Order: sequence, then structure tokens, then C-alpha cells
Amino acid sequence: MTIRSFELLRPKSIAEASELLVKHGDDARLIAGGTTLVILMKQRVVHYPYLVDLQGIPGLDGISQDGESVRIGAMATHRSVERSPIIRNSVPIVAEAFGHIGNVRVRQSASVGGNLAHADPRLDPPPTLLILGAELAVLGPKGSRVIAIKDFYRGMYETALEAGEILFEVKIPAMPREAKAVYLRYSSLSANDWPCLGVAGLLSRIDSRCEELRLALGGVAETPLLVRGLDFVRNEKITGGLLDEVVKVVDRQIAPLPDFRGSEWYKRQMVSLFVKRAIRELEQRFSQ
Ligand SMILES: Cc1cc2nc3c(=O)[nH]c(=O)nc-3n(C[C@H](O)[C@H](O)[C@H](O)COP(=O)(O)OP(=O)(O)OC[C@H]3O[C@@H](n4cnc5c(N)ncnc54)[C@H](O)[C@@H]3O)c2cc1C
Repeated sequence: MTIRSFELLRPKSIAEASELLVKHGDDARLIAGGTTLVILMKQRVVHYPYLVDLQGIPGLDGISQDGESVRIGAMATHRSVERSPIIRNSVPIVAEAFGHIGNVRVRQSASVGGNLAHADPRLDPPPTLLILGAELAVLGPKGSRVIAIKDFYRGMYETALEAGEILFEVKIPAMPREAKAVYLRYSSLSANDWPCLGVAGLLSRIDSRCEELRLALGGVAETPLLVRGLDFVRNEKITGGLLDEVVKVVDRQIAPLPDFRGSEWYKRQMVSLFVKRAIRELEQRFSQ
């Protein structure tokens, strides 16, 4: 199939891009790396007479250290995040998560903003950004605001972005001291397929007892999911019994949809396995 014709608009600033979105309303869509949008347009799933191109806006692709936090511009590519010395040094789990996506060709073009805004529940980066408490800076007709990533996803392919708003930066706070983090993804079809599920975990310990456990999952609910109600692990040692309790809490919060990557039952079994595996892996990282 061929793409229906459209006009490519090339703003020179985010403010101008936002004005164009407002001016053309539902007829316009942002385009960043184009890796998802162009496929959807080619398949004629969507059509927009105007595409507002973010590529020509200077300064949107930086990656920088800001005190103990890290800032990533929305137009930074997956590949630049995966290879950034700043990210690898400060929040290596973020480099891992972006490094898992698709293949090098996709990662070379696709942008951080395009990934997060696409809001597919299976995306690899959101679980990791959820456990790290990332914040998303957006600019729109009413000015700029910051949205915590835990409030960003509203439904399948739906975000908290309002008409004319553009995600321009992701801020990732420093990892808690003495914490370890891990991201495990499971593909049931092939290694570089979209994940069947992803589990991000962060564990901090005092002596050999848990101080805090954070878990977030992708692919098993309408949106990426930050697991609630894990406080009971505080001061506990990680035992088989504790892992079973954690899995019960997680299982109550997920709602996997059956598809060709697995039935609901299968995905629940895999979540149980991968949650336990992630926590065991975190434990191991403390003894390395
Ligand atoms: C073959 C293939 C395999 C893939 N595998 C994986 C995978 O395993 N895991 C995974 O996580 N992802 C995967 N992806 C998804 C990939 O990460 C997305 O295609 C990519 O993130 C989209 O980025 P983009 O810059 O190309 O966005 P675009 O395609 O340009 O845009 C995507 C959407 O985001 C909107 N948008 C773009 N930028 C912004 C912004 N700054 N603010 C607000 N809205 C914006 C656009 O309007 C559009 O709706 C895969 C994609 C392909 C093509």
C-alpha cells in the first residue's frame, strides 16, 4: 500500500510546532522518527493531511547530567540513549531497556518522545522509567508543565497529553543510593519481537533485609503498570514465601489480554516467573 498524500510542516521551535497542531486540530499529527507513524499511515490505519516534523527543531536531542538527575531530549534516538556514557553511568537500566527495542535500524531512527507518546502498553522503556520515577516535560498552548510518568498513561494508546501539547524532555532522578535495578523482558515469538511482557524491578536493602521494592510491568495491562502495595516487604528477607506473596499482589493488578503472544493464563504464569526471576536477579546484583 502507498501512503496517501500529506503536507510536511517544518517548524523551527516547539512553540511553533504546538501552534501548528492547534491550528490544524485532528488533521495534524507530530512526526518524530516516523518508525511507527509511517507504518500506520502506509497500512492506512491512520491518515493525517498535515504532519508536523520535530526533526528540524534544534536542541531536542540532548542527553545531559543535571546534578544527580539525567535529562533526555525527546528527539534523542533509542540508539543514542543505549550508547550514552551518561546514561550507562547514572541509570544503566535505562540504556538496557532502550537497547532491547526492535533492531538497530529502528533504534537508530526512533525517538524517546515518539516511543513514550505512542503509549502502546507493551513498550520496553515505560516500566523502567516508572520504577525510577521519571518526569515528562511538555509544552503546549497553555505553557509548559511536568507530568509524572505514573500519571502519563491513561489507556491503550492514550496519554495525558492535551491538544497541542508536545513532550520535549524526560527527567530521570538519581537512583536511590544502595539500590539495584533490573529490566527483564520476555518475547514469546522471537528475540527481537515486541515483548510478550517486561518486568522492571528496583530493590534497596539494609543489611540483607529489604528496604524498598518497586516493580513495574509492561504488556500485561491496558497501560504500563507500577505495582502498588509492596510496602510489606520492608525489613523482610527475600524468601520463597515472600516471593509468592509479591506475585499474589502483582497478579491482582494485571489484566493481560490474550493474543498470538500468549493466552491470559500463559501470561499470568510468565509474569509470576519473571517477577520472581527479577527479584532473585536483584538479590544477586547485591552480592556481585
Ligand atoms: C519493527 C519495529 C519493532 C519495534 N519493537 C519495539 C520493541 O520491541 N519495544 C518497544 O518498546 N518499541 C518497539 N518499537 C516501537 C518503537 O520504539 C517506536 O516505533 C518508536 O518509539 C516511535 O518513535 P518515533 O520517533 O519513530 O515516533 P513516530 O513514529 O514519529 O511517532 C509515534 C507517535 O508519537 C507521537 N509523537 C512523536 N514524538 C512526540 C513528542 N515529542 N510529543 C508528543 N507526541 C509525539 C506521534 O505523533 C505518533 O503518534 C518497534 C517499532 C518497529 C517499527
